[in-house]
Amino acid sequence: MADFYQVTLIPGDGIGPEITMAACRVIDAAGVSIDWQEVVAGSEALAEYGTPLPDHVLESIRKTGVALKGPVTTPVGSGFRSVNVSLRQLLDLYVNLRPAVSIPGVRSLYKDIDLVIVRENTEDLYAGIEHMVGPDAAESIKIITRRASERVVKFAFDYARREGRKKVTAVHKANIMKLSDGLFLETARAVAAAHGDIEFEDRIVDNMCMQLVQKPELYDVLVMPNLYGDIVSDLCAGLVGGLGVAPGANIGDEIAVFEPVHGSAPKYAGKNKANPTATILSAVLMLRHLGETSAAGRILSAVRTVIGEGRQVTYDLGGGAGTAEMTDAIIKAMVNEQ
Ligand code: NAD
Repeated sequence: MADFYQVTLIPGDGIGPEITMAACRVIDAAGVSIDWQEVVAGSEALAEYGTPLPDHVLESIRKTGVALKGPVTTPVGSGFRSVNVSLRQLLDLYVNLRPAVSIPGVRSLYKDIDLVIVRENTEDLYAGIEHMVGPDAAESIKIITRRASERVVKFAFDYARREGRKKVTAVHKANIMKLSDGLFLETARAVAAAHGDIEFEDRIVDNMCMQLVQKPELYDVLVMPNLYGDIVSDLCAGLVGGLGVAPGANIGDEIAVFEPVHGSAPKYAGKNKANPTATILSAVLMLRHLGETSAAGRILSAVRTVIGEGRQVTYDLGGGAGTAEMTDAIIKAMVNEQ
């Protein structure tokens, strides 16, 4: 293990700076030394550099190989593409990993959800290729390639193997989109054939949504194209109690960027109200990625203790604590549990 790590920090905007600061404090308290390379992206960068995603942000992430990122607001109609989508495409972060795991104490429909969504992160309708066809019609082009499908499904199987999981389910709409989703499914079946130790099945996306609401315990690792992944992962976040507790990671071959699933919640910006859990759990994923499994485990345990006790939690978890107070409680629980 390294003495210290260099990690790029993008605080983001809206509630981003408060919740990333919470995660940095918790990592520090867990005894992991990080030399944070702080850079700005989003509206602040737009005002200063004329672009929401300046080159030096990308250069910093390429250099450190790891980033912790707060949410960044996507201004509607600014003429610039989403920072989040651009980052994933420019750095070829082809996997969006979103675990959805029940935490005792969080009000939710189920108590024992343990799902992992592996979302393709670079193509599909998110390729952003669209145009007007005359004044009254618009066309968006859905791109699915064998290469992108193969590497994301391969990631899902390798992840399942590494984490001792039993089954991978490919999610698609190949009955209607016979060529694009058909190619995704065909590729998934070929990758599955080379991973005989892990069970494989496929589900049509609409049926998948119903099954996840009715029988989530039947599923384990789910892999799917970009747009379905966006929607299904929010559904799964809902199954475990909402966006405030849903972490995420964008992963490529050399680089990984860790960020909560939720957005910048502008109405709570600077109000010390936002739940820091999703970002702290994203930092737990980051620490595991860095090989700091013991610190990651201590933080996870402290988060579960604080949420389980329910006294120092934010409004969305039914409490009255602010972002900073909940973070203090997590740090205190970690010290007590050592
Ligand atoms: P949002 O996730 O910001 O908010 C949705 C709802 O969840 C709101 O009611 C909000 O109050 C609540 N919420 C979100 N995070 C919370 C937290 N940590 N604690 C407590 N409550 C929380 O979604 P939105 O309003 O659709 O998006 C706002 C902006 O964020 C948009 O510009 C969007 O493009 C952007 N966004 C960015 C990312 C990212 O940076 N990865 C992801 C999603 C959305």
